[in-house]
Amino acid sequence: MTDDKNIIVSTQNLSVHFPVRGSLPFKKKYVKAVSNVSLNIRRGETYGLVGESGCGKSTFANALLGMIKPTEGKVIFEGKDLNSLSKKEFKQTRRNMQMIFQDPYSSLNPRFDILQIIGEPMVIRGGYTDEEIEERVVELLELVGLSREDLHRYPSDFSGGQRQRIGIARAIILNPSFLVCDEPVSALDVSVHAQILNLLDKLQKQRNMTYLFISHNLAVVKSICDHMAVMYLGKVMECGSTQTIYDNTLHPYTQALFSAVLDIDVDNKRERIVLQGDIPSPIDPPAGCRFCKRCPHAMPICSQKEPELIEIEPDHMIACHLYSGEKE
Ligand code: SF4
Repeated sequence: MTDDKNIIVSTQNLSVHFPVRGSLPFKKKYVKAVSNVSLNIRRGETYGLVGESGCGKSTFANALLGMIKPTEGKVIFEGKDLNSLSKKEFKQTRRNMQMIFQDPYSSLNPRFDILQIIGEPMVIRGGYTDEEIEERVVELLELVGLSREDLHRYPSDFSGGQRQRIGIARAIILNPSFLVCDEPVSALDVSVHAQILNLLDKLQKQRNMTYLFISHNLAVVKSICDHMAVMYLGKVMECGSTQTIYDNTLHPYTQALFSAVLDIDVDNKRERIVLQGDIPSPIDPPAGCRFCKRCPHAMPICSQKEPELIEIEPDHMIACHLYSGEKE
C-alpha cells in the first residue's frame, strides 16, 4: 500500500508510549497512548480520525507532525522518514505540515496583533521584507473572510469563529501541503461550524491540500471525509472509505458511535447502542481486544487474543474476531 504514488503521509506501526511518573524503575509503567497504528493518507483527500476523548487521536497527530518522538514505528511524509532527517531537513519538511488547533481562544498569543500572529511563520523562516509579510498577511486575511482593517487588532477583538479563521490563515501562510485539523470546530458556537468547514473545503480545493481531520463528531466526519479511521484506546478498530464504513458498519465500536449520531441520515435510522462502562486505563489496557470490556458481542477469545486489522472488502479494514474466523 505504501508504494501508492498518491500517498502523501503514512504511518507504519506507529506507537507512542509515555512512561508513568513515579512508577518503580524495575516495574516501569507506560501510558500506551498509540499502539501499532498504520495508516495511509492520500494527496488531496480529507482523512477523518474519530474516537472518544482520550483515545489517542491528538497524540497520534502530534507524532505524525514530529512534535512527539514515536516509541516505535515510522512516519513517512512525501517519501521521507521524519525520524531519519537531520534537524535542518526536518525543519524544511515540517513547513509543509501544519496544524489548526482546537481552541482558537488559547492558541493565539493575546499580546500579538494579527499581523504578528499570522506573519510569524514567515518571520521565523526569514528572507522576507516587512512589506512582503504584510502583503501576504492581507492576502490571507481576505482569503479567510477578514480584511486589511484587521491587521493591527488583537485576538480579544474577535469572535471564536473569526479567531479560528486567523488560526487557519497562520497555518497556511507557508503554503503547506498537509494540514492537521485537530477538532477545529468543537470549541466554537454551532452556528459557525458550517462557515469554518466551508472555508476549509474552499482552501483545500484551491490549494490541493490534504487534511487529517480529527473529530469525535461522526456527522461531520461522514459529510467531509473521504477516508476515516476509528480509534479506541490507541488502536485502530476500523478504517477505510468513509462511505463504505457508513454503508456497512461492522465493528461493534463503530456501530455504537454511529448509532449515537441522530441527525446523520433521516432515511437510515440506526438502533441506539449505549455502551456500558468507561474507557479502561491506557496504562493497563485489557488483554486481547481492547474493546472487550464494553463490547456487547464479546466472546471468550476476545479477552485472550488481539484481533488483527484485516481487509474485509475493498477499502475497508476491521480488527474484530467476529470477522477474523476465530471464535473459540
Ligand atoms: Fe467485540 Fe470481540 Fe470484536 Fe472486540 S474482537 S469488538 S470484543 S467481538
